[in-house]
Amino acid sequence: MASLSSNDSIVIVGAGIIGLNVALVLAEKGYGQSITVVAEYFPGDTSTYYTSPWAGCNFSAISGTDINALRWDRMGYAHLSKLATHHPEESYVQWTPSTELWDEDIPRDKIQHMSEYLKDFRVLSDAELPRGVKFAVSFTTLTVNAPKHIKYLYRRLQDQFGVRFVRQRLPSIQAAYASPSTKIVFNCTGLGSGTLPGVEDPKCYPTRGQVLLVKGPHIQTNMMRHGVDYETYVIPRPGSNGNAILGGYMQKGVNDGSTYDSETKSILARTRDLSSEVSQQEPEVLAVVAGLRPSREGGARVERDEILVGGQKRILVHNYGAGGTGFQAGYGMALESVATVEDMLRDIRDSIARPRL
Ligand SMILES: Cc1cc2nc3c(=O)[nH]c(=O)nc-3n(C[C@H](O)[C@H](O)[C@H](O)COP(=O)(O)OP(=O)(O)OC[C@H]3O[C@@H](n4cnc5c(N)ncnc54)[C@H](O)[C@@H]3O)c2cc1C
Repeated sequence: MASLSSNDSIVIVGAGIIGLNVALVLAEKGYGQSITVVAEYFPGDTSTYYTSPWAGCNFSAISGTDINALRWDRMGYAHLSKLATHHPEESYVQWTPSTELWDEDIPRDKIQHMSEYLKDFRVLSDAELPRGVKFAVSFTTLTVNAPKHIKYLYRRLQDQFGVRFVRQRLPSIQAAYASPSTKIVFNCTGLGSGTLPGVEDPKCYPTRGQVLLVKGPHIQTNMMRHGVDYETYVIPRPGSNGNAILGGYMQKGVNDGSTYDSETKSILARTRDLSSEVSQQEPEVLAVVAGLRPSREGGARVERDEILVGGQKRILVHNYGAGGTGFQAGYGMALESVATVEDMLRDIRDSIARPRL
Protein backbone atom coordinates (compact mmCIF):
# COMPACT_ATOMS: atom_id res chain seq x y z
CA MET A 1 0.00 0.00 0.00
CA ALA A 2 1.05 3.59 -0.61
CA SER A 3 2.17 5.79 2.28
CA LEU A 4 0.36 8.90 3.43
CA SER A 5 3.34 11.15 2.89
CA SER A 6 3.26 10.95 -0.93
CA ASN A 7 1.43 13.47 -3.11
CA ASP A 8 -2.05 13.54 -1.54
CA SER A 9 -4.12 16.60 -2.54
CA ILE A 10 -7.23 15.15 -0.91
CA VAL A 11 -7.10 12.87 2.13
CA ILE A 12 -10.22 11.06 3.37
CA VAL A 13 -9.90 9.59 6.86
CA GLY A 14 -12.22 6.59 7.19
CA ALA A 15 -13.25 3.76 4.86
CA GLY A 16 -16.78 3.13 6.11
CA ILE A 17 -19.78 3.90 3.93
CA ILE A 18 -19.35 7.64 4.65
CA GLY A 19 -15.70 7.91 3.57
CA LEU A 20 -16.29 5.64 0.57
CA ASN A 21 -19.23 7.76 -0.60
CA VAL A 22 -17.15 10.95 -0.29
CA ALA A 23 -14.45 9.26 -2.38
CA LEU A 24 -17.07 8.21 -4.94
CA VAL A 25 -18.54 11.72 -5.29
CA LEU A 26 -15.04 13.21 -5.72
CA ALA A 27 -13.97 10.45 -8.13
CA GLU A 28 -17.09 10.99 -10.25
CA LYS A 29 -16.04 14.65 -10.50
CA GLY A 30 -12.63 13.61 -11.85
CA TYR A 31 -10.47 13.72 -8.70
CA GLY A 32 -9.89 9.98 -8.27
CA GLN A 33 -6.12 10.17 -8.73
CA SER A 34 -5.83 13.02 -6.22
CA ILE A 35 -7.47 11.04 -3.39
CA THR A 36 -5.91 8.93 -0.65
CA VAL A 37 -8.21 7.17 1.81
CA VAL A 38 -6.48 6.44 5.10
CA ALA A 39 -8.16 4.16 7.63
CA GLU A 40 -7.53 1.62 10.34
CA TYR A 41 -10.26 -0.70 8.95
CA PHE A 42 -11.23 -1.41 5.35
CA PRO A 43 -14.05 -3.31 3.63
CA GLY A 44 -13.46 -6.99 4.41
CA ASP A 45 -12.40 -6.25 8.01
CA THR A 46 -14.67 -6.74 11.02
CA SER A 47 -14.37 -4.81 14.28
CA THR A 48 -16.70 -3.32 16.86
CA TYR A 49 -15.14 0.01 15.87
CA TYR A 50 -16.04 -0.39 12.19
CA THR A 51 -19.82 -0.09 11.92
CA SER A 52 -20.50 -0.34 8.19
CA PRO A 53 -20.21 -4.15 7.75
CA TRP A 54 -22.89 -4.69 10.43
CA ALA A 55 -25.67 -2.65 8.84
CA GLY A 56 -28.98 -4.45 8.05
CA CYS A 57 -29.45 -2.78 5.59
CA ASN A 58 -32.26 -0.83 3.99
CA PHE A 59 -33.73 2.56 3.18
CA SER A 60 -36.47 3.32 5.71
CA ALA A 61 -38.29 6.05 7.61
CA ILE A 62 -36.09 5.43 10.67
CA SER A 63 -34.06 8.61 10.05
CA GLY A 64 -34.56 11.98 11.77
CA THR A 65 -37.30 14.49 10.99
CA ASP A 66 -35.03 17.55 10.58
CA ILE A 67 -34.56 19.16 7.16
CA ASN A 68 -31.00 17.82 6.76
CA ALA A 69 -32.12 14.23 7.24
CA LEU A 70 -35.03 14.72 4.81
CA ARG A 71 -32.70 16.11 2.11
CA TRP A 72 -29.95 13.52 2.57
CA ASP A 73 -32.50 10.69 2.47
CA ARG A 74 -33.97 11.95 -0.78
CA MET A 75 -30.53 12.19 -2.43
CA GLY A 76 -29.60 8.77 -1.04
CA TYR A 77 -32.78 7.19 -2.40
CA ALA A 78 -32.03 8.63 -5.85
CA HIS A 79 -28.46 7.28 -5.75
CA LEU A 80 -29.40 3.80 -4.52
CA SER A 81 -32.25 3.69 -7.07
CA LYS A 82 -29.74 4.15 -9.89
CA LEU A 83 -27.56 1.34 -8.55
CA ALA A 84 -30.53 -1.01 -8.11
CA THR A 85 -31.79 -0.23 -11.61
CA HIS A 86 -28.52 -0.31 -13.56
CA HIS A 87 -26.01 -2.37 -11.48
CA PRO A 88 -27.96 -4.55 -9.03
CA GLU A 89 -25.60 -7.54 -9.13
CA GLU A 90 -22.29 -5.66 -8.85
CA SER A 91 -23.49 -3.13 -6.25
CA TYR A 92 -25.61 -5.51 -4.11
CA VAL A 93 -28.46 -2.98 -4.01
CA GLN A 94 -31.95 -4.22 -4.84
CA TRP A 95 -35.52 -2.92 -5.24
CA THR A 96 -37.66 -4.54 -2.52
CA PRO A 97 -41.33 -4.22 -1.50
CA SER A 98 -41.63 -2.69 1.96
CA THR A 99 -44.16 -2.01 4.71
CA GLU A 100 -43.48 0.22 7.74
CA LEU A 101 -45.75 0.29 10.79
CA TRP A 102 -45.95 2.78 13.66
CA ASP A 103 -47.45 2.09 17.08
CA GLU A 104 -47.72 5.86 17.70
CA ASP A 105 -45.67 9.06 17.42
CA ILE A 106 -46.17 9.21 13.67
CA PRO A 107 -43.83 11.66 11.91
CA ARG A 108 -46.54 12.96 9.53
CA ASP A 109 -44.53 15.85 7.95
CA LYS A 110 -41.65 13.51 7.24
CA ILE A 111 -43.98 10.91 5.71
CA GLN A 112 -45.60 13.63 3.58
CA HIS A 113 -42.15 14.64 2.29
CA MET A 114 -41.09 11.04 1.61
CA SER A 115 -44.36 10.32 -0.21
CA GLU A 116 -43.26 12.80 -2.90
CA TYR A 117 -40.43 10.56 -4.11
CA LEU A 118 -40.85 7.02 -2.80
CA LYS A 119 -41.84 4.57 -5.52
CA ASP A 120 -45.34 2.99 -5.20
CA PHE A 121 -46.03 4.92 -1.98
CA ARG A 122 -49.37 4.12 -0.29
CA VAL A 123 -50.91 4.74 3.15
CA LEU A 124 -52.56 1.56 4.43
CA SER A 125 -56.25 1.76 5.30
CA ASP A 126 -57.38 1.26 8.92
CA ALA A 127 -58.77 -2.15 7.95
CA GLU A 128 -55.28 -3.27 6.90
CA LEU A 129 -53.55 -2.31 10.17
CA PRO A 130 -52.44 -5.12 12.51
CA ARG A 131 -53.48 -4.89 16.18
CA GLY A 132 -51.69 -2.11 18.07
CA VAL A 133 -50.62 -0.28 14.91
CA LYS A 134 -51.81 3.33 14.44
CA PHE A 135 -50.40 4.08 10.99
CA ALA A 136 -48.63 2.24 8.18
CA VAL A 137 -47.26 2.85 4.71
CA SER A 138 -46.03 0.64 1.92
CA PHE A 139 -43.61 1.54 -0.88
CA THR A 140 -40.82 0.04 -2.92
CA THR A 141 -37.59 0.48 -1.05
CA LEU A 142 -33.93 -0.36 -1.56
CA THR A 143 -32.18 -3.10 0.37
CA VAL A 144 -28.40 -3.33 0.52
CA ASN A 145 -26.01 -6.17 1.32
CA ALA A 146 -23.84 -3.89 3.48
CA PRO A 147 -20.55 -5.88 3.69
CA LYS A 148 -20.68 -6.65 -0.06
CA HIS A 149 -21.69 -3.12 -1.03
CA ILE A 150 -18.72 -1.52 0.73
CA LYS A 151 -16.41 -4.06 -0.95
CA TYR A 152 -17.95 -3.09 -4.31
CA LEU A 153 -17.20 0.59 -3.63
CA TYR A 154 -13.66 -0.24 -2.43
CA ARG A 155 -12.86 -2.19 -5.61
CA ARG A 156 -14.55 0.31 -7.92
CA LEU A 157 -12.72 3.28 -6.39
CA GLN A 158 -9.37 1.59 -6.97
CA ASP A 159 -9.97 -0.08 -10.34
CA GLN A 160 -12.12 2.52 -12.10
CA PHE A 161 -10.88 5.76 -10.52
CA GLY A 162 -7.33 5.12 -9.24
CA VAL A 163 -8.10 6.06 -5.62
CA ARG A 164 -5.30 5.03 -3.21
CA PHE A 165 -5.87 3.35 0.14
CA VAL A 166 -3.47 3.50 3.09
CA ARG A 167 -3.98 1.40 6.21
CA GLN A 168 -3.01 3.41 9.25
CA ARG A 169 -4.56 4.33 12.60
CA LEU A 170 -4.03 8.08 12.90
CA PRO A 171 -3.04 9.39 16.35
CA SER A 172 -4.83 12.71 15.61
CA ILE A 173 -6.69 14.39 12.74
CA GLN A 174 -3.63 16.66 12.32
CA ALA A 175 -1.64 13.55 11.29
CA ALA A 176 -3.75 13.41 8.11
CA TYR A 177 -1.81 16.47 6.88
CA ALA A 178 1.49 14.56 6.68
CA SER A 179 2.03 15.80 3.14
CA PRO A 180 2.52 19.54 2.55
CA SER A 181 0.62 19.08 -0.72
CA THR A 182 -2.59 18.07 1.08
CA LYS A 183 -5.23 20.73 0.41
CA ILE A 184 -8.32 19.14 1.99
CA VAL A 185 -8.92 16.50 4.66
CA PHE A 186 -12.33 14.86 5.05
CA ASN A 187 -12.98 13.51 8.53
CA CYS A 188 -15.19 10.42 8.08
CA THR A 189 -14.19 8.55 11.23
CA GLY A 190 -17.68 7.65 12.49
CA LEU A 191 -17.64 6.87 16.20
CA GLY A 192 -13.91 7.69 16.23
CA SER A 193 -14.81 11.41 16.08
CA GLY A 194 -15.75 11.25 19.74
CA THR A 195 -12.17 10.52 20.83
CA LEU A 196 -9.84 11.41 17.93
CA PRO A 197 -7.51 14.23 19.07
CA GLY A 198 -8.22 17.35 17.03
CA VAL A 199 -11.92 16.44 16.78
CA GLU A 200 -13.05 15.01 20.17
CA ASP A 201 -16.72 15.86 19.63
CA PRO A 202 -18.58 15.36 22.96
CA LYS A 203 -21.90 15.03 21.06
CA CYS A 204 -20.90 11.62 19.65
CA TYR A 205 -22.31 8.47 21.22
CA PRO A 206 -22.89 4.84 20.15
CA THR A 207 -26.32 3.31 19.54
CA ARG A 208 -25.96 -0.44 19.87
CA GLY A 209 -27.90 -2.87 17.70
CA GLN A 210 -28.01 -6.67 17.64
CA VAL A 211 -29.17 -8.47 14.49
CA LEU A 212 -29.49 -12.06 13.24
CA LEU A 213 -28.35 -13.28 9.85
CA VAL A 214 -30.79 -16.05 8.89
CA LYS A 215 -31.36 -18.43 6.01
CA GLY A 216 -34.67 -17.36 4.47
CA PRO A 217 -35.00 -17.59 0.71
CA HIS A 218 -38.76 -17.16 1.08
CA ILE A 219 -38.28 -13.78 2.86
CA GLN A 220 -38.80 -11.25 0.07
CA THR A 221 -40.49 -8.33 1.84
CA ASN A 222 -38.85 -5.61 3.91
CA MET A 223 -40.85 -4.97 7.11
CA MET A 224 -40.28 -2.42 9.88
CA ARG A 225 -42.25 -1.84 13.06
CA HIS A 226 -41.44 1.38 14.91
CA GLY A 227 -42.56 0.97 18.53
CA VAL A 228 -42.35 3.56 21.28
CA ASP A 229 -39.36 1.81 22.85
CA TYR A 230 -38.43 -0.88 20.32
CA GLU A 231 -37.53 -1.34 16.63
CA THR A 232 -38.29 -4.59 14.87
CA TYR A 233 -37.31 -5.30 11.28
CA VAL A 234 -36.95 -7.94 8.59
CA ILE A 235 -34.64 -7.16 5.67
CA PRO A 236 -34.03 -9.52 2.74
CA ARG A 237 -30.29 -9.42 1.89
CA PRO A 238 -29.49 -8.98 -1.83
CA GLY A 239 -26.94 -11.29 -3.48
CA SER A 240 -26.67 -13.61 -0.47
CA ASN A 241 -28.29 -16.83 -1.74
CA GLY A 242 -31.47 -16.18 0.17
CA ASN A 243 -30.35 -14.77 3.51
CA ALA A 244 -32.14 -12.10 5.51
CA ILE A 245 -31.43 -9.86 8.51
CA LEU A 246 -33.76 -9.87 11.52
CA GLY A 247 -33.52 -7.11 14.11
CA GLY A 248 -33.25 -5.27 16.21
CA TYR A 249 -32.24 -2.88 18.92
CA MET A 250 -31.52 0.85 19.21
CA GLN A 251 -29.69 1.11 22.55
CA LYS A 252 -28.60 4.70 23.00
CA GLY A 253 -25.22 5.14 24.70
CA VAL A 254 -24.48 1.40 24.91
CA ASN A 255 -20.86 0.74 23.94
CA ASP A 256 -20.89 -3.07 23.88
CA GLY A 257 -20.10 -5.26 20.88
CA SER A 258 -21.16 -8.52 22.62
CA THR A 259 -24.28 -10.46 21.63
CA TYR A 260 -26.95 -11.84 23.98
CA ASP A 261 -29.19 -14.94 23.76
CA SER A 262 -32.06 -13.11 25.42
CA GLU A 263 -31.95 -10.51 22.62
CA THR A 264 -31.81 -13.22 19.94
CA LYS A 265 -34.97 -14.79 21.43
CA SER A 266 -36.72 -11.42 21.54
CA ILE A 267 -35.79 -10.66 17.91
CA LEU A 268 -37.10 -14.06 16.74
CA ALA A 269 -40.39 -13.58 18.63
CA ARG A 270 -40.90 -10.01 17.44
CA THR A 271 -40.08 -10.73 13.78
CA ARG A 272 -42.41 -13.76 13.78
CA ASP A 273 -45.20 -11.43 14.91
CA LEU A 274 -44.29 -8.81 12.33
CA SER A 275 -43.77 -10.88 9.19
CA SER A 276 -45.90 -13.72 7.82
CA GLU A 277 -42.85 -14.76 5.77
CA VAL A 278 -40.79 -15.26 8.95
CA SER A 279 -43.61 -17.02 10.83
CA GLN A 280 -44.39 -19.49 8.04
CA GLN A 281 -41.07 -21.32 8.61
CA GLU A 282 -38.64 -21.19 11.60
CA PRO A 283 -35.57 -19.39 10.19
CA GLU A 284 -32.15 -21.02 10.57
CA VAL A 285 -29.88 -18.56 12.42
CA LEU A 286 -26.49 -18.36 10.65
CA ALA A 287 -24.88 -15.63 12.73
CA VAL A 288 -25.63 -13.21 15.56
CA VAL A 289 -23.81 -9.87 15.49
CA ALA A 290 -23.86 -6.51 17.23
CA GLY A 291 -22.76 -3.14 15.91
CA LEU A 292 -22.45 0.40 17.24
CA ARG A 293 -24.17 3.10 15.19
CA PRO A 294 -22.14 6.35 15.21
CA SER A 295 -24.82 8.68 16.55
CA ARG A 296 -24.57 12.36 17.41
CA GLU A 297 -26.75 14.70 19.46
CA GLY A 298 -28.42 17.07 16.97
CA GLY A 299 -27.74 14.81 13.99
CA ALA A 300 -24.82 14.23 11.67
CA ARG A 301 -22.12 16.89 11.24
CA VAL A 302 -21.48 17.82 7.61
CA GLU A 303 -19.44 20.98 7.82
CA ARG A 304 -16.34 22.76 6.53
CA ASP A 305 -13.91 23.80 9.25
CA GLU A 306 -10.33 25.03 9.62
CA ILE A 307 -7.62 23.55 11.80
CA LEU A 308 -4.16 24.75 12.78
CA VAL A 309 -1.45 22.30 11.78
CA GLY A 310 2.14 23.34 12.52
CA GLY A 311 0.95 26.94 12.88
CA GLN A 312 -0.83 26.97 9.49
CA LYS A 313 -4.57 27.01 8.80
CA ARG A 314 -5.68 23.94 6.85
CA ILE A 315 -9.08 22.91 5.49
CA LEU A 316 -10.95 20.13 7.32
CA VAL A 317 -14.40 18.88 6.25
CA HIS A 318 -16.35 16.89 8.82
CA ASN A 319 -18.75 14.17 7.75
CA TYR A 320 -19.69 11.91 10.64
CA GLY A 321 -22.50 11.03 13.04
CA ALA A 322 -24.75 9.23 10.54
CA GLY A 323 -26.26 7.04 13.30
CA GLY A 324 -28.57 4.42 11.81
CA THR A 325 -28.67 5.98 8.34
CA GLY A 326 -25.16 5.93 6.82
CA PHE A 327 -26.21 3.79 3.87
CA GLN A 328 -29.48 5.54 3.07
CA ALA A 329 -28.22 9.10 3.65
CA GLY A 330 -24.47 8.68 2.98
CA TYR A 331 -24.41 9.70 -0.68
CA GLY A 332 -26.42 12.88 0.05
CA MET A 333 -24.09 13.71 2.96
CA ALA A 334 -21.13 13.17 0.63
CA LEU A 335 -22.54 15.48 -2.06
CA GLU A 336 -23.00 18.25 0.49
CA SER A 337 -19.63 17.82 2.18
CA VAL A 338 -17.88 17.96 -1.20
CA ALA A 339 -19.90 21.06 -2.16
CA THR A 340 -18.39 22.94 0.81
CA VAL A 341 -14.95 22.86 -0.83
CA GLU A 342 -15.80 23.62 -4.48
CA ASP A 343 -13.36 26.59 -4.38
CA MET A 344 -10.48 24.36 -3.24
CA LEU A 345 -11.38 21.73 -5.81
CA ARG A 346 -11.07 24.32 -8.57
CA ASP A 347 -7.44 24.94 -7.47
CA ILE A 348 -6.71 21.21 -7.47
CA ARG A 349 -8.32 20.89 -10.93
CA ASP A 350 -6.13 23.72 -12.25
CA SER A 351 -2.97 22.13 -10.84
CA ILE A 352 -3.91 18.77 -12.44
CA ALA A 353 -4.50 20.51 -15.79
CA ARG A 354 -1.23 22.52 -15.60
CA PRO A 355 1.60 20.63 -17.33
CA ARG A 356 4.60 19.79 -15.10
CA LEU A 357 7.75 21.74 -16.09
C1 LIG B 1 -27.19 -3.21 13.53
C2 LIG B 1 -27.10 -2.03 12.58
C3 LIG B 1 -28.03 -1.89 11.57
C4 LIG B 1 -27.95 -0.81 10.70
N1 LIG B 1 -28.86 -0.72 9.68
C5 LIG B 1 -28.79 0.33 8.81
C6 LIG B 1 -29.73 0.43 7.74
O1 LIG B 1 -30.61 -0.43 7.57
N2 LIG B 1 -29.61 1.50 6.89
C7 LIG B 1 -28.65 2.46 7.04
O2 LIG B 1 -28.59 3.39 6.26
N3 LIG B 1 -27.75 2.37 8.05
C8 LIG B 1 -27.81 1.34 8.95
N4 LIG B 1 -26.93 1.27 9.98
C9 LIG B 1 -26.03 2.41 10.23
C10 LIG B 1 -24.79 2.39 9.38
O3 LIG B 1 -24.16 1.16 9.50
C11 LIG B 1 -23.86 3.53 9.84
O4 LIG B 1 -24.53 4.78 9.75
C12 LIG B 1 -22.61 3.61 8.97
O5 LIG B 1 -22.00 2.36 8.88
C13 LIG B 1 -21.62 4.64 9.53
O6 LIG B 1 -20.54 4.68 8.64
P1 LIG B 1 -19.22 5.50 8.95
O7 LIG B 1 -18.42 5.46 7.70
O8 LIG B 1 -19.57 6.81 9.55
O9 LIG B 1 -18.49 4.68 10.13
P2 LIG B 1 -17.63 3.34 10.12
O10 LIG B 1 -18.21 2.33 9.21
O11 LIG B 1 -17.45 2.94 11.54
O12 LIG B 1 -16.23 3.76 9.51
C14 LIG B 1 -15.32 4.56 10.24
C15 LIG B 1 -13.99 4.53 9.54
O13 LIG B 1 -13.11 5.44 10.19
C16 LIG B 1 -11.89 4.77 10.48
N5 LIG B 1 -11.23 5.42 11.62
C17 LIG B 1 -11.77 5.82 12.79
N6 LIG B 1 -10.81 6.37 13.58
C18 LIG B 1 -9.66 6.30 12.88
C19 LIG B 1 -8.30 6.70 13.15
N7 LIG B 1 -7.93 7.28 14.31
N8 LIG B 1 -7.35 6.48 12.20
C20 LIG B 1 -7.68 5.88 11.03
N9 LIG B 1 -8.94 5.47 10.73
C21 LIG B 1 -9.90 5.70 11.64
C22 LIG B 1 -12.30 3.33 10.74
O14 LIG B 1 -11.19 2.44 10.66
C23 LIG B 1 -13.30 3.15 9.60
O15 LIG B 1 -12.62 2.89 8.39
C24 LIG B 1 -26.94 0.17 10.85
C25 LIG B 1 -25.98 0.00 11.85
C26 LIG B 1 -26.06 -1.07 12.70
C27 LIG B 1 -25.02 -1.25 13.77
